[in-house]
Amino acid sequence: MKLATFTNGAAPQPGVVVDETTIVPLGAVAPDMKSLIAGWDALHSAAAAAATAREGALDLAAVRLLAPVPRPGKILAIGLNYADHIAETGMQTPAHQIWFTKPGTAVNGPYDDIAIPRGSTMTDYEVELVVVIGKRGRHIAKEDAAGHVFGYCVGNDVSERVWQRLTPQFTLGKGFDTHAPFGPWITTADAAGDVHALGIRCMVDGEIRQDSNTRHLIFSVWDQIAELSKVMTLEPGDVIYTGTPGGVGAARKPPAMLHAGCQVRCEIDGLGAIEARCTADQAAD
Ligand code: ZN
Repeated sequence: MKLATFTNGAAPQPGVVVDETTIVPLGAVAPDMKSLIAGWDALHSAAAAAATAREGALDLAAVRLLAPVPRPGKILAIGLNYADHIAETGMQTPAHQIWFTKPGTAVNGPYDDIAIPRGSTMTDYEVELVVVIGKRGRHIAKEDAAGHVFGYCVGNDVSERVWQRLTPQFTLGKGFDTHAPFGPWITTADAAGDVHALGIRCMVDGEIRQDSNTRHLIFSVWDQIAELSKVMTLEPGDVIYTGTPGGVGAARKPPAMLHAGCQVRCEIDGLGAIEARCTADQAAD
């Protein structure tokens, strides 16, 4: 099942995408995506019935999709998790998983503009497989990790490399407003296939910049969930960015960064695509 958060002018609500052209509102099943995920065992059949009945169905192209989880409790992201990306950065393959967080205010809709920060010359793209947690858990064994996943999205871990390299901590360089787009919807885990065998690509102005496969993840999705949950309780609607393959703008020769006017598209086989225009940062002081 493909589950999105959308607005057609009224308050945002969850919906189920059918045929990739139609969205059926699920506001009567659950008020928001986090509630839908948390209550999924009980709500799943009502959501499926709504998808079949198509009551209140809307043209997908006529609504605005928001990030599927508009305000995740946590947004966690792993660094240096594809061999080709590690090679292009000149870093060593990490012995331990390198984690940072992105703030909730960085969340952006799947087709919303990405703001190039004021004065930035080094804003970059990173296409990533994004995991949405379904079941709450702590100390989750690797073998049990799949049971804690609700579904998967396409994400762009937008990164400002000057800020990222100013200090050893990634949080500021990865934390600008609008720099955590994901979507376009959540493909539930049962419909996503083998998520360690999906083609993953990023295009800028139609040019392929990243073109890899999730089979090249160094730490698997299950490794990541096991490691994170040693530390923190993972909760329904938490979001994990699982790392980016090679081809980022900063590593190209010469560098090929994002700037206002660029169109950046991220796609993963079976999970859909997100696409954004880059614009100058219009935020007020
Ligand atoms: Zn990343």
